[in-house]
Amino acid sequence: MNFVRVALDVPVPTLFDYRAAAATGDDIGRRVLVPFGKTIAVGVIIELAHTTSLPPHRVRSVLSILHDVPPLPADVLALLKFSSDYYQHPLGEVVLNALPTRLRRRQPVKPESAPRYRLTAAGRVVDPAALPRRATIKRELLRLLHTTDESVDEATLQAVAPRAPAALKTMLELGWIERSTVACAAAPATVAAPQFARGPELTDEQRTAVDCIRGAGDGFTPWLLLGVTGSGKSEIYLQLIALCLSCDKQALLLVPEINLTPQLEALVRMRFPDTALVALHSGLNESERLQGWLAAQSGAAGIVLGTRLAVFTPLPKLGLIVVDEENDASFKQTDGLRYSARDLALVRGKQRAIPVVLGSATPALETYHKALSGSYRMLTLTQRINAMPPDIECVDTRREPLIDGLSQTLLSAVRATMQRGEQSLIFINRRGYAPVLICGSCAWTSGCHRCSAKLVLHLKEQRLRCHHCGHQERVPAACPQCGNQDLVPLGQGTQRIESALARIFPAARVLRIDRDSTRRKHAWNEMRRQIHAQEVDILVGTQILAKGHDFPQLNLVGVINADSSLYSTDFRAGERLFARLTQVAGRAGRGTSRGRVLVQTEFPAHPLYQALRRHDYPAYAQELLAERRQAGFPPFVHQALLRAEAPRLDSALDFLASAARRAAEITSVVTVYDPVPAGLTRLAGLERAQLTVQARSRTALQAFLREWRACLDAATQRKVRWSIDVDPLEL
Ligand SMILES: [Zn+2]
Ligand SMILES: [Zn+2]
Repeated sequence: MNFVRVALDVPVPTLFDYRAAAATGDDIGRRVLVPFGKTIAVGVIIELAHTTSLPPHRVRSVLSILHDVPPLPADVLALLKFSSDYYQHPLGEVVLNALPTRLRRRQPVKPESAPRYRLTAAGRVVDPAALPRRATIKRELLRLLHTTDESVDEATLQAVAPRAPAALKTMLELGWIERSTVACAAAPATVAAPQFARGPELTDEQRTAVDCIRGAGDGFTPWLLLGVTGSGKSEIYLQLIALCLSCDKQALLLVPEINLTPQLEALVRMRFPDTALVALHSGLNESERLQGWLAAQSGAAGIVLGTRLAVFTPLPKLGLIVVDEENDASFKQTDGLRYSARDLALVRGKQRAIPVVLGSATPALETYHKALSGSYRMLTLTQRINAMPPDIECVDTRREPLIDGLSQTLLSAVRATMQRGEQSLIFINRRGYAPVLICGSCAWTSGCHRCSAKLVLHLKEQRLRCHHCGHQERVPAACPQCGNQDLVPLGQGTQRIESALARIFPAARVLRIDRDSTRRKHAWNEMRRQIHAQEVDILVGTQILAKGHDFPQLNLVGVINADSSLYSTDFRAGERLFARLTQVAGRAGRGTSRGRVLVQTEFPAHPLYQALRRHDYPAYAQELLAERRQAGFPPFVHQALLRAEAPRLDSALDFLASAARRAAEITSVVTVYDPVPAGLTRLAGLERAQLTVQARSRTALQAFLREWRACLDAATQRKVRWSIDVDPLEL
């Protein structure tokens, strides 16, 4: 072979040919340094080739093939190629962006960056069980090192606990361990027969679910685990992970968030104390991410727990994929490669012939439809463990006057809850004080000059802020239009509810939890501690609080301002609202007494609220599916969106109109709609428009998109930036 085809991080849908006489099949998936224009770029070898279509004088040579870390394995390369093809994104960007940042740099990874540790003679005689009770991390590290005569790599040890590095340092100082450096690619230490901590007794429903999945054996089976909040889905994941580990395989657990919900990670670590767990999420620094990735790739990490990007992690012994809260929007990337990690998890499961478990209390309709039609197997958990389902009521706000957005019924319930020494949560999905400032005299409103959106009043900071582009300005002393000084905040946000509650209940300890109050590092950890220590009576929060937290003293949830999503133009709004309200309602009454949920609404008879009150996801989902079938929306059709943005709306619309004409020339199987301005038309100074295309057949849509994109790539457009979003979630 004389040439290699290399993926480079550039936005063109081609690979680049270089001369590399020495390259062999083993180099596929390896990083290379190549000359690119006037610079040197890092690329990844995708194929070897005998010939190239480039004229000989234009072919340049590979500068070096990097052997510092193992190459990307064939299955990951196949997954990346699939993603590039399916989501219509250049392969080079897809491949390079899947690598840890450290591997995208030109400097090879030094072996020193992956030290290994082994017990010294002094360390061998230290009995882990004899250490003080509080030295949990040291004990775990010692136990792990005791299981082998070989050295253990740093990533495995660091995966024991977040504070493992500090403990390792102390152990070095004590002379218990010694450090050596070997290349990262070295085989991991094998830990013989890992011990699992015992879990709680399973309920009958849980037992049935575990038995079914185990009974189906190896091979690709997609499962939907539909379980009401608090029904113990996590326990099923843990049982399945244990099965997987006992066969010496690796488990990949994908979750929407790790930083906000550290409980699951803690639970997994506790249950599998001998197993190296790697957590991959956005909070890691470059070196941590690299070490975790290498531990996964070498097979040393038995469990990889990660957010969406973790779906691309090399896992040679992958035996199980679990996607928790599979309907969560964060699994879909909204820029660059617009992939769905949930959908790619299924692709990967099929590719590797392993089970994939999707868990949720409110699955995405796409998933639920597949389960109903038999493409996925469905398991249901209908019982909450040790708790009754919360009692959900609607408060009709047409009949009750509101004080700062709060009804008398809700306020009395908060008062009663405080008197019992329990906690309440007021859920409002809007931060800031008020969503807009309005002039009482001329009706001027605070708008963002860069976006078609209102500026949100943040009273504490005396700022008006755009939640879309980040623009902020001082609150004007008078109306910029007529000079009137009587500017009125309109509507409610978390800050306003917080101050109203503080005024109405002067003795109450009110805590506001939203993106503003948790921005500071560790702020959220401290808040969680306060809540658990019962130093808080009333929580006011956005959906940060809705996700998987277990606050035993929380028995009342009040939901305000939910109606705004009921009659949205987005056909997914109802599905999302139901999921969000189910999640937040699930926070009430996880302790001993039955929780109560009060939803303030002007539409108490709406089918969504009725189904919510009955805890009846299946009924509501089936109603939505019937509507979607009739209207011809996903999952009954497959969609893609062509988005365009430009300084002028005309240019964006013109571009889309010509794209629509080309589309009509390519096919008649795909429905092409008219270009329309996007919901939020102006964002950060650019005008945005979009064009929807859809087809009943996914294959037909894919074939069309390939051809269409080639046309779009060929048509040079200076002022217009465009992108294709396949299976878009936001319209
Ligand atoms: Zn005015
Ligand atoms: Zn803005």
